[in-house]
Amino acid sequence: MIAQILFFGFIAAVAEVLGGTIIYFKKMWPKRVQSILLALGAGFILALVFLKLIPASIETLGEEAALYLIIGFSVIHFFEHAIVGHLHFGEETHSDVMVSKTASLSAFSGLFVHAFFDGLSISVGMQFDFLIGLLIFIAVLLHKLPEGLTIGSIMIAAGFPRKAVLYSACGIGAATMLGTATVLIFSQVDSQITGIAFAISAGAAVYVGASDLIPEINKSENRIPPLVVFGGMILFYVSERLLEGMLP
Ligand SMILES: [Zn+2]
Ligand SMILES: [Zn+2]
Repeated sequence: MIAQILFFGFIAAVAEVLGGTIIYFKKMWPKRVQSILLALGAGFILALVFLKLIPASIETLGEEAALYLIIGFSVIHFFEHAIVGHLHFGEETHSDVMVSKTASLSAFSGLFVHAFFDGLSISVGMQFDFLIGLLIFIAVLLHKLPEGLTIGSIMIAAGFPRKAVLYSACGIGAATMLGTATVLIFSQVDSQITGIAFAISAGAAVYVGASDLIPEINKSENRIPPLVVFGGMILFYVSERLLEGMLP
């Protein structure tokens, strides 16, 4: 089970590095692919949170779950936006605000914490319920490529040499692996603590869907990406049905 969880975390980390590699090799990235992935990811993760993660958190912890949900939400908000001046998903084109290298490094640290929670969600999700864990993995995977692209383009906008793109994408990928590796700790503790970690990561997932992904989609010039969000919700439903049929 531990090896399996680490494997899924590794795939997510690879997708991240792949996103960075796209920026490294190719300056022009098809904007449409980016917005479709962000929109699918948003719909998927929000459906997952509201239909699975929040109910499962309440089932495990009772009313107390609410506290951990808002803690998870707040942690990501704090590290991505309260202490970081400029950070948003998708390709960074605002080189005017990325003039200082400090700005880009603080954006990196925000994404690092975010990616850690991506990995943590996969890890505690799979320990909690393998099907839920797999669905969390898909939700994370859908936005991992744009995430690698985000950090890669931040480095370019800040004027770092090209190599920094790969280093930073690997760094965020490592944060994902680090989050996944918490399985080594959580597999030793009692289920109550895993339940708390699960609820915190569910709160973090609300933030990723509603505050990282949706605002980016709403900025789009045409109405297609906002509509694709519903496609992400349908994709969640179909994935859940398929996985339910496949898993013993
Ligand atoms: Zn920007
Ligand atoms: Zn993420």
